[in-house]
Amino acid sequence: MDWSQRLNVRIVRCERCPRLVKWREEVARDKKREFRNWDYWGKPVPSFGVPNARLLVIGLAPAAHGGNRTGRVFTGDSSGRWLFRALHKAGFANQPSWERRDDGLKLRDCYITAVCHCAPPDNKPLPVEIENCRPYMVEELQRLRNVKVVIALGQIAFANYLKTCGVSPIPEFGHNQIYECTPTLIASYHPSRQNTNTGKLTEPMFDAVFARAKKLLPG
Ligand code: SF4
Repeated sequence: MDWSQRLNVRIVRCERCPRLVKWREEVARDKKREFRNWDYWGKPVPSFGVPNARLLVIGLAPAAHGGNRTGRVFTGDSSGRWLFRALHKAGFANQPSWERRDDGLKLRDCYITAVCHCAPPDNKPLPVEIENCRPYMVEELQRLRNVKVVIALGQIAFANYLKTCGVSPIPEFGHNQIYECTPTLIASYHPSRQNTNTGKLTEPMFDAVFARAKKLLPG
């Protein structure tokens, strides 16, 4: 096993946040009507991607009936449709898959993690839960030695990535804005329904973030 597989084994067993353990299991037991035939994952959702990736994508947390159902980050929900489509268009994924974890999707030169690895109620992790989960990101940032570009999806991922890197004060968030640090950081609106349904984030706006990351990576 490589370091990311060993880390993911530890993540999947984690029970540090009692509220989230209860919630992820309740959701997995009660299910959503349209997914009643699914065997929900109901555990922390591991990071996904290539351990020597040059692009790191940071999300917020799995969705209750998305990653918490399928067991793969951003898989099975609307945000994942947007993310994997954009990654595929920019050449960071072999296919634009978003529905199941056994669909053959492979990331290229890309690794996806999250601020919180468990689905939170209302998609809102508590500050203490973000702190509980931070050591996993710290370890990933130490181990992901080839990363040249980081894309933070949403304000919370943006602020917590910078906090994990020791940056203070946190600069103002701007969509598709580049922050000159090492590795280079690009902020993006999160592809949540709240943003995509209202037109705050459009497909060209989201694609532009990944095209920009691609340009920053030589070869
Ligand atoms: S959110 Fe992170 S720290 Fe909390 S239980 Fe899940 S994996 Fe563990």
